[in-house]
Amino acid sequence: MEAKHDVLVVGAGCAGMRAAIEAFDAGADVALLSKIHPTRSHSGAAEGGINAALGNASEDDPETHAFDTVKGSDYLGDQDAIQILCDEAPDDVYQLEHWGAVFSRTEDGRIAQRPFGAAGAPRTAYAADITGHVLVHVLYEQVMKRNIPTYEEFFAWRLVENDGRCQGVICWDLLGGGLKTIGAKTIILATGGAGRLYVGTTNAYSCTGDGMALALRMGVALKDMEMMQFHPTTLSPTGVLITEGCRGEGAYLLNSDGERFLKSYAPNAMELASRDVISRAEQTEIDEGRGVDGNVLLDLRHLGAEKILERLHGTRELSMVFAGVDPIYEPIPVRPGAHYHMGGVDTDVWGRTSMEGLYAAGECACVSVHGANRLGGNALMETITYGKRAGRHAADWALANTVVEVPQSAETDAQRDLHELLDRADGERPWRIRDELAQTMHENFGVFRREDQMLRQGEIVAGLQERYQRVVVDDKGEIFNNDLTQALELGFLLELADSMVVAGLARKESRGAHARPHDYPERDDRNFLKHTLVTLDDAGRVQLGWKPVTMTKWQPQERTY
Ligand SMILES: Cc1cc2nc3c(=O)[nH]c(=O)nc-3n(C[C@H](O)[C@H](O)[C@H](O)COP(=O)(O)OP(=O)(O)OC[C@H]3O[C@@H](n4cnc5c(N)ncnc54)[C@H](O)[C@@H]3O)c2cc1C
Repeated sequence: MEAKHDVLVVGAGCAGMRAAIEAFDAGADVALLSKIHPTRSHSGAAEGGINAALGNASEDDPETHAFDTVKGSDYLGDQDAIQILCDEAPDDVYQLEHWGAVFSRTEDGRIAQRPFGAAGAPRTAYAADITGHVLVHVLYEQVMKRNIPTYEEFFAWRLVENDGRCQGVICWDLLGGGLKTIGAKTIILATGGAGRLYVGTTNAYSCTGDGMALALRMGVALKDMEMMQFHPTTLSPTGVLITEGCRGEGAYLLNSDGERFLKSYAPNAMELASRDVISRAEQTEIDEGRGVDGNVLLDLRHLGAEKILERLHGTRELSMVFAGVDPIYEPIPVRPGAHYHMGGVDTDVWGRTSMEGLYAAGECACVSVHGANRLGGNALMETITYGKRAGRHAADWALANTVVEVPQSAETDAQRDLHELLDRADGERPWRIRDELAQTMHENFGVFRREDQMLRQGEIVAGLQERYQRVVVDDKGEIFNNDLTQALELGFLLELADSMVVAGLARKESRGAHARPHDYPERDDRNFLKHTLVTLDDAGRVQLGWKPVTMTKWQPQERTY
């Protein structure tokens, strides 16, 4: 074993760093581990902002925030978890401010808040349109201030179970080469999302769902995996995100007739309806021939150059660089793209999983605060509040327990399996399988889902999994072997795709991101107001289960916008 800690946090985005800071402050010996440098984590790409009922722009309170979130989740969110998020959010945001987060300001110097989709008040605190970048750097400063050791460019490949507990992580050391084992009394997975399951996505190349697959392989359940959110404004053709902050500032969505088509889908909320509603509206306009080259148009021109330059300058730059469009003068071509996984590792409100010693927080977890549809601004808040809570609990547990043991057999098994892959001389290159997976997930498990397409996708994924058994890694070297880590990531992605299809087929209704207009167009609370759970059996096949939704005070109602 290379090293031992009380708490090891796998992932150094907002959730991981916030967890590590909390664990450190609780007195634990904590370390971070990340396959990329912490400030390059995908949290840094978050643009629009973070939700907390500060009440700086209009009257607001955590109760209203909680109700909006429950409703936005299409009633699949767990109401106890949502209440905790909304109650703790204001203090957690002020904590970030005190650590140095430079939020945009109101005229009188308070934290400014902008309207976001399906929110009953302007609740999204922001730092222009680079909120994630600001938060990642503030958290990294706090990590450095505490001298929290970080295993940088370590790729977590296997979790170690011993004596019914999770007690370590086996990693590939990208920089130094070779497998390294880090033992810990508690391990927190904070590895982010899995947008790379799709060809059109806002997610970085690093978002391959590793932590979800690691937990699944340990017998821990994944919850609501069918719930992949499509964001309505991703830039064509790259998939780069155009923030919801644009619509918050008043941008319009237009079809090829120049009409604000949302008047037919969400006549009250219009461009500020929730993401699932707008993505479906856009896809319908495109499918029915009212799109513009497979897109719709996001029009900012009426906001004026001054507002665009002050509040949305990052958006302007992205549009100019990646689409050749200056939004001061022309509308931006956008379309729905895979953006956020509401599903993930099943946890309780302290980030605990069903395996002792194993925790999860942030986008890789499903506690669940987003249910079937996440509201913009709630994901960053979840990384902070639930990162903090997981860090606190994992530290307290670790400080009350003493033993960390990684059996030698776990390391030798890992060495053997890795060498089997590296020593293979012939076979298929992984990228071909990866491209086919991403393309077909987009076609068959996208904004709208049909039984026959999902069944077909299940067969495709099974075929790709078979081909994956024979993949070959060309680079046999030790140093920065991205060929190897990308092959390992593909193994994770395939298992997650399989889980999504099984859960998607079982949910015979339309709820939030899971829209089945052809066969089950309605939400069916009588039969499906429950979470899907997937696990792997001994033969590695996905098994389906269900879990009740926790409801405290809000009974399901029809969602109107
Ligand atoms: C473009 C974009 C804009 C967004 N804007 C907003 C917004 O304005 N407001 C909002 O609320 N939400 C937003 N979101 C969502 C939100 O940013 C993310 O859900 C959140 O930041 C995820 O944080 P995280 O800490 O869970 O994961 P990440 O920030 O993705 O971090 C994951 C970490 O895990 C590490 N890791 C992964 N796999 C391994 C492995 N095998 N071994 C070792 N390390 C590993 C990575 O290196 C990284 O450090 C946005 C998302 C995108 C894609």
